[in-house]
Formats: sequence, C-alpha cells, structure tokens
Amino acid sequence: MLGFLRSSFRRPAALVLAVFVLASFASVSWAQTPDQINAALKAALEKYKGLKEGANADYIPALAKVDSAIYGIALVTTDGKVYTAGDVKSEVSIQSISKVFTMALVMEEQGVEAIEKNMGVDATGQVFNSIVAVEQYKGAEMNPLVNPGAITATSMVSGKDRAEIWNKILAWHGAFAGRTLTVNQEVFKSEAETNQRNQAISMLMYAYGHIKDNPLQATDIYTEQCSISVNAKDLATMAATLANGGKNPATGKQVMKSENVPEVLAVMATAGLYDDSGKWLYATGLPAKSGVGGGIIAVSPGKFGIAVISPPLDKAGNSVRAQKAIAEISTVLHGNPYEARPK
Ligand code: GLN
Repeated sequence: MLGFLRSSFRRPAALVLAVFVLASFASVSWAQTPDQINAALKAALEKYKGLKEGANADYIPALAKVDSAIYGIALVTTDGKVYTAGDVKSEVSIQSISKVFTMALVMEEQGVEAIEKNMGVDATGQVFNSIVAVEQYKGAEMNPLVNPGAITATSMVSGKDRAEIWNKILAWHGAFAGRTLTVNQEVFKSEAETNQRNQAISMLMYAYGHIKDNPLQATDIYTEQCSISVNAKDLATMAATLANGGKNPATGKQVMKSENVPEVLAVMATAGLYDDSGKWLYATGLPAKSGVGGGIIAVSPGKFGIAVISPPLDKAGNSVRAQKAIAEISTVLHGNPYEARPK
C-alpha cells in the first residue's frame, strides 16, 4: 500500500483514486450521502403532509390557537451538517422537551446519581401529569421526564434566587440550540394561569421530601422553561448535541460532560414518549422526547439528531406526524442504534 502511495505521487489520477477509496472506508460506519438524507426528509414531508389525525393540545389555552398546519423537519449530523424540509421557520413552545435538558443540567451540577436517588429513572406507565404515579411510591421510582420528576429537577438547579436559576436554565437550553432562545410570553402566561394541577403535584413532591424548598417557585420556573420558543432546526441541533457526546456540532462548544450523555439518553429511551415509550423504542430504537407543543426530538448516537414539529397530538400527547416522519427517516437512514451487521 505504501509503495503504491509513493509511486502514485508520480501519477496524480491514481493518488486521487487512493484518497477517495480511503475516505469512503473511513466513513463506512454511517455512509449516508447528503442526497440520501435530503431525499429521506423530503419523502417523509410529502408522505405525511395530508395526514389529518390528532389535535392540538388544548388544556393550555394558548396551544389550541397554534397553527395545526406547521410541519417542519430538521436533521443535524454529528459533523454539523444541517438538512431541513418543510417549515423550519415557525416556532412552537418546547414544552416537555425542555425536561431533557434541565435533567442534564442537574446531572452536570450534582452528578447522575442525584437524579436516580431523588425521583428515579423508571417508567410510570401513567400519563405525564399523573398524581397516582406520585402516590404509588411517594414520589420515588419515577423519572425526570414526567411532570412530578421534571418540576423536582427544576427545583434542584442551583442559584441564589429565581432570576439566577432561570437565566441559567435559559442559557443552558440556548447552548444546546446554538443560539439565544426566548420565551413565548403568551404561552407562559396561559399555562401559568391554568397550571393548578402542576402546582398540586409540586406540593406533593415537597410533602414527600423530593422538593426541598419553594415548590411553587419551581413550578413557575418549570412553566417558563416549557414556554421557550423553538423551531425544528433549534430542536435538531439540541438533539445532535446529545448525539455528539454533549458537544454542539454547530458551535463546537462542549455543552455538557460526555460521560453524562448515556444516562440522559437512557431516561429518554425509558420515558421520552410518556406511556407510549415502549412502542416508540420498539419501532425505532431511538432515545426521544416529545412535547405537547408538537415537537419531538430523537437521537441516533454518533450519527445525528432529528426533530419534527407538527402540533396535532395523539391520545398519549405525542405529535402524530412527528412520530411517523422520524420513524420513517431513521429507518431509511439506518439510525436505529440496535441495528448491527454480523461480522
Ligand atoms: N408544560 C406542560 C405541562 O406541564 C408540558 C407537558 C408536555 O409537554 N407533555 O403540562
């Protein structure tokens, strides 16, 4: 081989060929070309455009008013290439997808054990705002991706006052998205006026000792965190940062410790699509997280992050089009991390 390379210096065409062959060997682990990726996104966009299933969330009044036709797909590879299809300009509120990143912030500050010890890392089999799930094990044996665990995670973020805690959470989300994010004030106000159930949940988590202090402040910060405004590209970049060991592939910034990423992904795989998480994992193998704003993110570790926004939800609270589009694109692009070729 070396002799061939040396002699090829005298034959430029042979050298070009040798470099090409070596380069294609180097990328053989995930050899999807830009054309293949673009085609997969476009096909999924077209296929599910006309789908009429599902309905916007309406228990938060402002979410009922969001345009149901918004439909955007974005995929960001771990080497920072961005692929989009459809409406990637329109923004929706991040909602429960934020739970992933606040959980990651707590892990960063206190270690992964803090999450496991406090609210647990197991599926509840119940809806995301279940009070029965809190009662079952007095607020333990659940996870940070359902409301009781998520509000508790928000309460665990350090800071001397509300402003300091909030600014840290907002900046943290922005670092994953690769830009400064803002809050949809209408959604925040609407949910803050109607979130009595979440307030009750936080009081229960306080009663059982999982929230140490100020449960209603934690609920309020959590509600603001759920109102962060994002487009499909923001969400895909956030997912790609997780796919890339905690380093944002667009900005090059190491946002979180690589060593904590597997635990974040494990909780997403366990509970990211609420009580339909098992069905989702069975179909795709991808750690993912949905929000009632209509977004879903999914992570193919080492390969890509993908996000779809489409507000109509199914009964479990997951975007209908987003589930179908992500599953289809990932299948075509071999995103399932459980897929292996025999040696
Ligand atoms: N803010 C919403 C709530 O607490 C988030 C729920 C969700 O996206 N599943 O109800």
